[in-house]
Amino acid sequence: MSFSQLGLCDPLLKSIKEKGYSSPSPIQQEAIPAILTGRDVLAAAQTGTGKTAGFALPVLQRLAAGPKTKANHVRALILTPTRELAAQVETNIREYKTHLRLKSAVVFGGVGINPQMKILRSGVDVLVATPGRLLDLYQQNAVKFDQLEILVLDEADRMLDMGFIHDIKRILRLLPAQRQSLLFSATFADNVMSLAESITRNPIKLAVTPANTTVEKIEQQLVAVDKSKKIPALTSLIKQQKWQQVLVFSRTKHGANRIATKLASAGLPSAAIHGNKSQGARTAALKAFKDGSIKVLVATDIAARGIDISELPVVINLDLPNTAADYVHRIGRTGRAGAAGQAWSLVSADEIDQLQDIERLIQLLIPRESLAGFEPNQPLPETKLLPPKKIKKPKKAKSTSSEAAGKPQRNGKSPQRNNSSSQRTDKKPQQNGNDPQRSGKAADSNSQSRPPRRRRVNPQAKRKAVEA
Ligand code: AMP
Repeated sequence: MSFSQLGLCDPLLKSIKEKGYSSPSPIQQEAIPAILTGRDVLAAAQTGTGKTAGFALPVLQRLAAGPKTKANHVRALILTPTRELAAQVETNIREYKTHLRLKSAVVFGGVGINPQMKILRSGVDVLVATPGRLLDLYQQNAVKFDQLEILVLDEADRMLDMGFIHDIKRILRLLPAQRQSLLFSATFADNVMSLAESITRNPIKLAVTPANTTVEKIEQQLVAVDKSKKIPALTSLIKQQKWQQVLVFSRTKHGANRIATKLASAGLPSAAIHGNKSQGARTAALKAFKDGSIKVLVATDIAARGIDISELPVVINLDLPNTAADYVHRIGRTGRAGAAGQAWSLVSADEIDQLQDIERLIQLLIPRESLAGFEPNQPLPETKLLPPKKIKKPKKAKSTSSEAAGKPQRNGKSPQRNNSSSQRTDKKPQQNGNDPQRSGKAADSNSQSRPPRRRRVNPQAKRKAVEA
């Protein structure tokens, strides 16, 4: 399928070509025509699937046909959970709208409000915003919604996780009832479904399958190490493997700072990025990481959300995240848009429960490596592959049409461009781990519960060929 078959106009097709996209991703194939109809859409799509273009392109096309935006008004509002994601979404929009006469802007907290008020004065067609700053701007009469035609909630699950529900409800009360609403979320837990019900009307529901392609495309390793030795082990691993660009995850902000400082003093230029850093510091760190002046970026889960660096080669979990879903989010930073990637986890004995949960979710026993000089005094117990957890079916959203009768799948988590297809969810959903389309690798490990083999880290080892 080509982009021109999706009903997009020539100026957008031109920008898509300039971006170098040759064919639409599965979520784009479904979302673009659905949004162009003007209907509400509920889409299960994680970052990395091409979801941004999936909503941005049709939104721009619909706006291109409409009236001029009045002073301080906006015609499409895109809400995102983090500043980084907001900035990234708006950058994409700016690129896609190059050949259209539309204006876009981004507003988020942590930076001065006055320049944002100035930009809004002449009206913007597409406003990308984080909820808190948008409300501040509204209170100052800097933004008006009478002309609003389209609302997009991006990463709705994350917004709820981050406690934005009250802000979102406040914003919804300010918007015209007559509008098109689009909700994108990686998962459809009960809280996301009830939000979706209050926002959308008779939505078309979309999801991408299979669920865990991201995980399968990424070469994952685990190194058992004592908790107290993690930072020296990390330093040794990065040096030994001669990695030039590594994203390291830390569960805490304090931990992120400490790791970055220690790595820097061991001769590895590093920076930390988390919620306590100013926007300027975050942007500078990201820029330095992208241009190679720092090798290691240490991030917390929330700060890392929305970092889009194409072909990020390595992600390291210095500690395991609190939830197994976050592990998938974390390692999804590598191997994006079809590129291969590696994910390493340094795991201490006290993290055995988190490890079990992760392996259960991804239906894979993560291969173990030993790192010379860092063999743990407290051994990491072997794990067994448990059967996948039953996924609770989401509540049905209000609907009358046959399209809306389907249920969105949970965990639509992956760059699906290569070997998967998207589907309307009125087809039978498949659960993680039971998906017959999953790769042989995962299916094998699903059928046997023996412990993974151990290897020694060999920097010269050829990287596993990853299926395209
Ligand atoms: P997203 O899921 O929107 O965060 O997009 C992930 C990455 O995929 C971004 O770097 C996009 O520029 C890229 N991308 C989006 N659509 C396509 C496409 N059709 N072909 C290739 N890359 C794409």
